[in-house]
Amino acid sequence: VRLFVEQPLGAAQPVPLTREQAHYLFGVMRMGVGDPVALFNGRDGEWQAEVAESGKRGGVLICEEQSAPQVTPPDVWLLFAPIKKTRTDFIVEKATEMGVRRIMPVQTAFTNSERIRQDRLQAHAVEAAEQCGGVFVPEVADLAKLDRVLSTWDPTRRIAFCDEALAGETGRLPAAPGPWAILIGPEGGFSEDERTRLRRMDCASPISLGPRILRADTAAVAALTLWQSALGD
Ligand code: SAM
Repeated sequence: VRLFVEQPLGAAQPVPLTREQAHYLFGVMRMGVGDPVALFNGRDGEWQAEVAESGKRGGVLICEEQSAPQVTPPDVWLLFAPIKKTRTDFIVEKATEMGVRRIMPVQTAFTNSERIRQDRLQAHAVEAAEQCGGVFVPEVADLAKLDRVLSTWDPTRRIAFCDEALAGETGRLPAAPGPWAILIGPEGGFSEDERTRLRRMDCASPISLGPRILRADTAAVAALTLWQSALGD
């Protein structure tokens, strides 16, 4: 069992459990005193711990030894327009598995969602990291308008602008090192104004993801795969 906790982790460090964590370990997983649990908090790597006290409403784990050091994924952010709830959850989950530093939902001209449940999406990122053995949890930002995000954009971070208008044409990811962001549009795609604005930004590279129009959630995974294989480590 692998668990994300908020507390600092270190040798002999006691880690008190929340009611939900105690319910999961002792109720759902039927664990008890002496059982091993792997812990991570996104900062101190992974630690092997043991159940020291168990109860219905709480319990305590004690850290024993570090089993993996902390690692930070390569510096790529995922900017995407939120779509249907389950597909948005999928994007957050897959982006966490594939390794991104930050997940930024953006509202574009053709985005239908006006708000997101940031706490829910953050919890999805934690769950995905628990499942995939990762020690890093990307921060999920609150929904922001694409216009505003681009107005304050730091041009040292390049943007891989995945443009469906390039389907079937050339538009390769440049092999430029340094910080990057991947931008995926909503089901309705980008507006002509957005396309023109992005094409005028020196730091943005229009990218094709192949000859077919992919669904936004597929496009996010495809673009991250491209980026990780060309520029990730
Ligand atoms: N409604 C649009 C259309 O019919 O042209 C399609 C939008 S697509 C479902 C959603 C997003 O996925 C796009 O905005 C783009 O970011 C990305 N995408 C999908 N297929 C792509 C491709 N072949 N090349 C580049 N980006 C693509």
